[in-house]
Amino acid sequence: MTRIDVAVIGAGVTGLASARAIAARGLSVCVLERHPRPGLDTSTHNSGVIHAGIYYPAGTLKARLSVEGRHLLYEFCARYNVPHRRCGKLIVAHDEGERHQLETLKRRGDDNGVEGLELVDRAFIDVREPAVSAVAALWSPETGVVNAEELVKALLRSGADAGAIVLPGTRLAGADRARDGMVLRTERETIQASVVVNAAGLYADDVSAMLGGETFKIYPCRGEYVELIPSKRTLVNALVYPLPHAHGLGVHLVKTTGGEVWLGPTASFQARKDDYEGDRLPVKAFVEPARRLLRDVTLEDLRLGGSGIRAKLHPPSESFADFMIRRDRENPFVVQASGIESPGLTSCLAVAGLVAQLVTD
Ligand SMILES: Cc1cc2nc3c(=O)[nH]c(=O)nc-3n(C[C@H](O)[C@H](O)[C@H](O)COP(=O)(O)OP(=O)(O)OC[C@H]3O[C@@H](n4cnc5c(N)ncnc54)[C@H](O)[C@@H]3O)c2cc1C
Repeated sequence: MTRIDVAVIGAGVTGLASARAIAARGLSVCVLERHPRPGLDTSTHNSGVIHAGIYYPAGTLKARLSVEGRHLLYEFCARYNVPHRRCGKLIVAHDEGERHQLETLKRRGDDNGVEGLELVDRAFIDVREPAVSAVAALWSPETGVVNAEELVKALLRSGADAGAIVLPGTRLAGADRARDGMVLRTERETIQASVVVNAAGLYADDVSAMLGGETFKIYPCRGEYVELIPSKRTLVNALVYPLPHAHGLGVHLVKTTGGEVWLGPTASFQARKDDYEGDRLPVKAFVEPARRLLRDVTLEDLRLGGSGIRAKLHPPSESFADFMIRRDRENPFVVQASGIESPGLTSCLAVAGLVAQLVTD
């Protein structure tokens, strides 16, 4: 049996960043990942936006860790050569009623400590995004984009440099509580860990049950994208969002670090945690949301894009749950890093700092 200080379940950005932060504190740490490579679930099925931290209710972990995480992520990307761009974003209003909502959003962002937010008029929009239809917008200069796949690779490399060991193709299959920690069972080996971090994303509820931790449910919520065809990519320069709705930030436009333009994600709760492609929306379902942002887009300008599945801690009847990052209330050998939906990519390094603190406390 292998003995280790800390075992992290899940090698998405949450688990990888947490393992790196834990190793940096001088503890031995390994990451169990069921897939053959890290990052294959939600961490590489997202918009790749580095959020400024505008939307989240004041005082929540999402509000605090997105602002803190954004600063850390820009530093990390610069240091480890992860492709990224601090391109700024426009949240647009289409009429006077929506203009009022922009003001509310700005106040929330200001309260959260988001820097540089500005209500701007059509003349400002004309300079940044001339093809976008809007009467006014909220300009967020600190929002950006990152290449999520390269971020995963850099977290893996820098974690390994700090001493974290990643075990791909290693699924946690069961666990027993011991006197001084947890005994973890995988198909190949048994690992004894003093502390276990649950960073299992969509499967965090199943993993928590296996560990004898708190009972909760993850509600999978799929988001689908289409892309602009290459000849239309010049219509968009950076990030353009509508006003947010109950289950997401709204179908938005993202110019990726590679120059593609994605439109999405939709929001649809589903039973399965691993079904990215079944019953995909037809491309024509995106024409209307696309035209709300880009007036001249036609069906021929769009083609099918990717999809991702949000690991939500709340059912469709509710609209908000905070990240669940805490020492487990049932099992003191477990630290939860669960319910890490958006802005989880942005926040990963700040989440990691909090997880490492909970592990060592
Ligand atoms: C459509 C969409 C758009 C998004 N856009 C953004 C955005 O623009 N900006 C932003 O900040 N955030 C965004 N997010 C959120 C962000 O992608 C997530 O918060 C983040 O990737 C969560 O990372 P994670 O490591 O917690 O989960 P995951 O990446 O899902 O990693 C969990 C890992 O645990 C592993 N695992 C599960 N069970 C086991 C087991 N039993 N044994 C071993 N391993 C196991 C899985 O294989 C997986 O690799 C978006 C999410 C979605 C779905």
